[in-house]
Amino acid sequence: MRCPSLRPCLPLSLALSLCACTDGLPPAPAQGPHVPLNLLVISLDTTRADRLGCYGHATASTPTIDALAERGVVFKNALAHAPLTLPTHASLFTGTFPPEHGIRDNGRTSLPTSLYPMAAVYREDGFRTGAFIGAVALDSTFGLDRGFEVYVDDMGPPDSKGHKPVQRRGAEVTDDAIAWLNRLGEDEVFFAFVHYYDAHAKYEAPSDFATTGDSYDDELAYVDSQVRRLQSWLESSRRDEDTIVVLIADHGESLGEHGEPTHGALIYQGTQHIPWILCMPDGRWAGTEVTERVGQVDFMPTMLAIYDLEGYDRSSGVNLLPLLEGESLGERAMYAESEYCSLNYGWAPLASVIRGKWKLIDAPTLELYDLELDPKEERNLAAEHPDAVESLQAELDELRRGMRDYGAQAIEQNPELLSALEALGYAGGQPEPGERDGRNPIESIGLLARYHDAVELGHDGEYERMVPLLEEIVAECPGPIGFRATLASGYIEVDRAKEAVDLLEGVLKESPTYEPAHFYAGRANLRLGNLDRALAHFRTNLSLVPGNWRAQIPVAQILTVQEKAEESLAAWQRVVELQPSDPAQRLELAEAWRRVGRWGEMVAELEAAHRLAPNDHDANAYLAWTLATAPVEGVRDGARAVLLAERAIAAGETADRLDTLGAALAEAGRHQEAARAVQRALGLLPPNAADLRAEYEGRLALYSSGRPFHHR
Ligand SMILES: [Zn+2]
Repeated sequence: MRCPSLRPCLPLSLALSLCACTDGLPPAPAQGPHVPLNLLVISLDTTRADRLGCYGHATASTPTIDALAERGVVFKNALAHAPLTLPTHASLFTGTFPPEHGIRDNGRTSLPTSLYPMAAVYREDGFRTGAFIGAVALDSTFGLDRGFEVYVDDMGPPDSKGHKPVQRRGAEVTDDAIAWLNRLGEDEVFFAFVHYYDAHAKYEAPSDFATTGDSYDDELAYVDSQVRRLQSWLESSRRDEDTIVVLIADHGESLGEHGEPTHGALIYQGTQHIPWILCMPDGRWAGTEVTERVGQVDFMPTMLAIYDLEGYDRSSGVNLLPLLEGESLGERAMYAESEYCSLNYGWAPLASVIRGKWKLIDAPTLELYDLELDPKEERNLAAEHPDAVESLQAELDELRRGMRDYGAQAIEQNPELLSALEALGYAGGQPEPGERDGRNPIESIGLLARYHDAVELGHDGEYERMVPLLEEIVAECPGPIGFRATLASGYIEVDRAKEAVDLLEGVLKESPTYEPAHFYAGRANLRLGNLDRALAHFRTNLSLVPGNWRAQIPVAQILTVQEKAEESLAAWQRVVELQPSDPAQRLELAEAWRRVGRWGEMVAELEAAHRLAPNDHDANAYLAWTLATAPVEGVRDGARAVLLAERAIAAGETADRLDTLGAALAEAGRHQEAARAVQRALGLLPPNAADLRAEYEGRLALYSSGRPFHHR
């Protein structure tokens, strides 16, 4: 039984009423008996129901999920309310539809503070709460972390170019989840949320799982193996006896159906029909198959009902427990939408309503399907059944009228996050779509697929192929500024910077605050040698997104080239502020200090770079050189310079490093050794290095006469 000490010290109802004004809490719940069970919610990102064994996929390799389904409840007709990760997770955890919570796309808005998410309810009720995230689409920026004590959304360290990973393997997510679970006390109850992103494109499962003959199914097999690890942990810690396990998808995957390779734009059943399995530890409802249509908004009210926490519930869904007891909730209309193309490209929004066997898609051309006879939605019956169309339209209107608006919460522009989302195949939350042409996404899905291909080619550095593809796309659909800005970015890479500038000027005339266009215009002008123009664009970009280090670096570089020593120093300081762990930027800042004659600060920066990259021997030799030759008394340190120079030489002897060692030895008063080092350096110089030879010989003369070499 749950330990009574887990009750919050403050009576729950009082705690709620105290916070209600700021956190938008619903009225206090009626106190009821509490179930001392843990809750493990596993989100299967991008998982089509019909690709799991328990939903009838014969060649699936999902034994763990299937076994859970056998011991639990399977909702056979569960629906996602959007084909996108963030909007649907927001629906799951607040019980509200996308128009209500205001998250219609990935990367634009965050959860309204007026909504009280599920984790917050459990935490308030004494649960330990932890979330373990698989991709940046659910970054804490978007507010789903509210209520979680622990929200692990760090995707790992940046690569050599400074790019942070945008997703991570399920194994890492599981590791983090298990590590956290292991830290919990035996008498603590938990609500854990584990998010597996592996089934998302590209489908590249670890080779051990390439067994099904289909790369998407292989990813699901891999995810199943991670669910098995969680299940094994539950069993070995005997938490399987008191833990409810829920598996649910955020949306499915089109896999080419209706011309859509992945998901996001369209709302056919391939993306909207999701798996949902509920497994009770005591075997309650085992083997129950629920065929009534349910939606993600029902998830929160159902879970809260199991825990007798209904008083918190302000959701638009319903408690599904009566269905598990064999009752019916009656026929309900189910809502779904995709605003993706509307928000990003100015195309028409899509919405759908399902009631009984009928599904209506509200698009510029209405589509009506009989899901019983035509589950693949291949025969549009709108013309044949105008009555059904009319009543479903009325149904959709009524659903919309019944929705509340909790106020979308804008997020701060964060270029890092936007480009990460773009790398996942989303538009990256562009603020403005450009000129709206209202076209039907269903008819233009091929165009969109080609656009995603082009973006992918760009990520792979294949600009020669990307540019002509984008030219075609822009000719066909010139409205979206994202299309044109991406084409411009390609022009820059294939030495057509002038065309990039022309294109971007048009974009910026329409949308002067579109920050990526300023960034690309900066880069294009830089290529053309228009330094002042470039500087102006980069600075505008920075005024729109002050943390954008990718724009801050060229600003500093341009000011350096323009020999504006003080200004460039300030610019490099800002770069280091934004990228404090990048040793290369520290070296740049050191140089900037040198240019204004601040040798002490220069050495401090070189030391910082050395701490970050102790095995960068060129940088170490440079530090040694500065410690030996700085023109300021207190800055020099001959002994340390010798040590660093010797280590650099041990890693590889070069003329330059020997020359540095010579300077260091001379500074340390070891003039004869210094002279020998420079003589060795002279021996390594190529014959055509006359200038260097003269320099070295000058230093050799100094050392031979017992003097060190110092800069002036
Ligand atoms: Zn997703």
